[in-house]
Amino acid sequence: MMLRKPVFAANWKMNHGPTDAKAFLRTFLVHYARRADRTVAFFPPALTLPAVTDALRDRSDILVGVQNIHWEPKGAFTGEVSAPIARDAGARLVLVGHSERRHIFGETDEQTGLKCAAVAAAGLVPVLCVGEKLDERERGMEEAVVVRQLRAGVARLQPGQIATALVAYEPVWAIGTGRTASPNDASAMHAVVRRVLKELAGERAAHIPVLYGGSVSRGNVAELISAPEVDGVLVGGASLDADGWATIVRA
Ligand code: PEP
Repeated sequence: MMLRKPVFAANWKMNHGPTDAKAFLRTFLVHYARRADRTVAFFPPALTLPAVTDALRDRSDILVGVQNIHWEPKGAFTGEVSAPIARDAGARLVLVGHSERRHIFGETDEQTGLKCAAVAAAGLVPVLCVGEKLDERERGMEEAVVVRQLRAGVARLQPGQIATALVAYEPVWAIGTGRTASPNDASAMHAVVRRVLKELAGERAAHIPVLYGGSVSRGNVAELISAPEVDGVLVGGASLDADGWATIVRA
């Protein structure tokens, strides 16, 4: 029996408004019939979320999430979206600590911890993203950085909440660059992530999917998801085209 079925998650970043999303899903759904052996998820921009949940109303097998939330449930935070609001709009998952949030918007480890706690408190599932920058890898710091980000991200979760989360290892030097981690390097880091998760959540950690992200494409997805310890992929650029994404999720 498969302990963790592969997860194929599309991070659309700041692409696809409601009109594009509807056209995308019309094409995608023709090419992707329900399958019990994998999970597919979409992370559209927040304003596109209702169009996506509407287009997927007969496809409860496909999950939908948002790319970011604020950690407060409501209040005077102009421009922000909270976890309860995301949930009300149909989100079930939330990306937390994506490298673009960390490195473009200055999100801190402490904030990722607050966000994961807010996501869990709202009954949603956090997808905690961790990953080292190129200079950190060059200095041999990759493991220390990933472990630090991981511990901080789940610091405010109970072990039972950690056990229901997902983690995505996304080396920053591989995101949007066309450069991927080798399956061996990805596996090695995923094993580190799993070891820390086990320490924090016990045997239940065996069920936490650890995804790889960073320039995944139709050409390399099969090799990456068959690597030991790689339980799926989080895909940016290659998830934007409906035919291409349908090919990837059928890998
Ligand atoms: C991402 O945004 O999470 C990502 C991995 O992007 P890309 O696939 O474009 O590298």
